[in-house]
Amino acid sequence: MDSTITLQQLKNQIEKFCSERDWDQFHPPKDLAIGISTEANELLDLFRFKTDLEIEKKLTTEEFKNKVQHELADVFFFVLRFAQKNNIDLSKAVDAKMKLNAEKYPVETAKGSNKKYNE
Ligand SMILES: [Mg+2]
Repeated sequence: MDSTITLQQLKNQIEKFCSERDWDQFHPPKDLAIGISTEANELLDLFRFKTDLEIEKKLTTEEFKNKVQHELADVFFFVLRFAQKNNIDLSKAVDAKMKLNAEKYPVETAKGSNKKYNE
C-alpha cells in the first residue's frame, strides 16, 4: 500500500468496508479494544519461543515478513476503526501524547536509558 495514503483515507476505506458488511453493530468501543488487544497478541505469537536472532533472521524472509505485516495491519485496522467510530483524531492524539512523553522522558535523563519515567 502506498504510504502517501492518509489516515483519513484509511478510516474512510475501513468505514466503507464495515458499512457494506453491516458490522457497525459489532463495533462498540469494548469490542474494538478487544480487537486491538487480540490482534496485538497474534503479532506477539509470531515471536513466541524465538530468540532475537531467530526473529531477525525470519524477518528477512518474505513469508514471515508478510505474516508480521498482516498482524500489524490487523492491529492498525482496529485502532483506526476505534478512532473512526468514536470521533478521535489520531494525528492529534499521537501528537499530544508524544508531547507528554517528551515531558516524561527528557533527553537529559532518558537518553540511552530503558528505565520507566517513575523508576
Ligand atoms: Mg490477525
